[in-house]
Amino acid sequence: MVLRKGSIAEPEELGDQFALLVSNVIDYAIFMLDTTGVVVTWNEGAQRIKGYRADEIIGRHFSVFYPTEEARNRKPDWELEVAIREGRYAEEGWRVRKDGTQFWASVVITALRDETGRLRGFGKVTRDLTDRHMMEEQRNAERDAEAQRLREHATSMAELEQAKTEFLNLASHELRGPLTVIRGYNSMLGDGTIPSDQVPSIARLLEAKLAQMDLLIEQMLETARMEHDRLELTRDRFDVRWVAQEQLDLFRPLAHGHHFVMDAAHEPLVVEGDRSRISTIVANLMDNALKYSPAGGEICLMSGRRGTDVFVSVRDEGIGISPEHLPRMFTRFGRLPTQENMSISGTGLGLFLCKEIAVRHGGDIKVNSRPGVGSEFTLTLPAVR
Ligand code: ADP
Repeated sequence: MVLRKGSIAEPEELGDQFALLVSNVIDYAIFMLDTTGVVVTWNEGAQRIKGYRADEIIGRHFSVFYPTEEARNRKPDWELEVAIREGRYAEEGWRVRKDGTQFWASVVITALRDETGRLRGFGKVTRDLTDRHMMEEQRNAERDAEAQRLREHATSMAELEQAKTEFLNLASHELRGPLTVIRGYNSMLGDGTIPSDQVPSIARLLEAKLAQMDLLIEQMLETARMEHDRLELTRDRFDVRWVAQEQLDLFRPLAHGHHFVMDAAHEPLVVEGDRSRISTIVANLMDNALKYSPAGGEICLMSGRRGTDVFVSVRDEGIGISPEHLPRMFTRFGRLPTQENMSISGTGLGLFLCKEIAVRHGGDIKVNSRPGVGSEFTLTLPAVR
């Protein structure tokens, strides 16, 4: 901007009306600095935005409007240098009011020169854009949060996809095992190579293998029902001792170096609930006791009463579980990441479902285990009085 020769940024020299206009503008701080950056004029808007009266600020260096760190780094002087070099300097940034609070300012500094090109001072126009800035910040924060939510959703979908693929592999593997055994015996039955006295025990083995396949299919269906909130429990009254006995008889043919012990209460242990699902829980615990004790050993099925609850527990002398892995066992697809465990097939659905079903009956499943010694899983259910 070029000023009349001899002008030194005094409001009187701007012409009365124009000076009046500038001095009464309240939405903008409009003021002048001398060539060193000292404030020489002040308007209504400057007082409103920055909080200083004219007599408090005229004569002071304009670096008081900057946050301490920026003032110390001589940013104000640098801005004047840019204005001298390029005619003007413009930016948005934090500035400081008289009371120390900060506001978001839109700033333009213009170098003022006379007709000979000599620098006479600077014009400075500042606008308080704090509200707009805050809204923008909030919009940005909301956009970031939304982007983060979408990223997390995409990650969890990818993890779910991965878990489902893994599950399909594991489930196919689980089904193929008993299927192979059944197919083998079936072909022997077909060509008559099984002696007739062995047929009853082989029939029991096949029954047990079919029960294992049933268990897995049931696990898959139950998980799907649970995901769609369609798991409805029936209400039967029954004695859990008979459930335990049935499962022991069913799993007996699958023993390989195991011997079974039944330690049942001598009094009825009546509960109310979904009999077939409670049977499935005991079947899962038996299946695991056999699977996770590959070297054989005792498997003890106990039942009894504890306070107002009844319990059925299955204890094995298998590989056991270290304490840090205990919380993972009851989660969906929660297989334990140990070398030994990985060599035994499974889907990680069994205990997750057992726990859910027990809890929906007002009961629970607890585990007590020591690595290398064995595990005991206990199902508790409220007793019917
Ligand atoms: P899986 O199909 O893998 O057997 P479960 O949900 O039944 O799934 O069990 C979850 C994990 O808990 C198993 O992968 C295994 O690591 C551990 N586990 C369950 N029962 C036993 C047990 N009796 N002894 C040792 N570990 C067990």
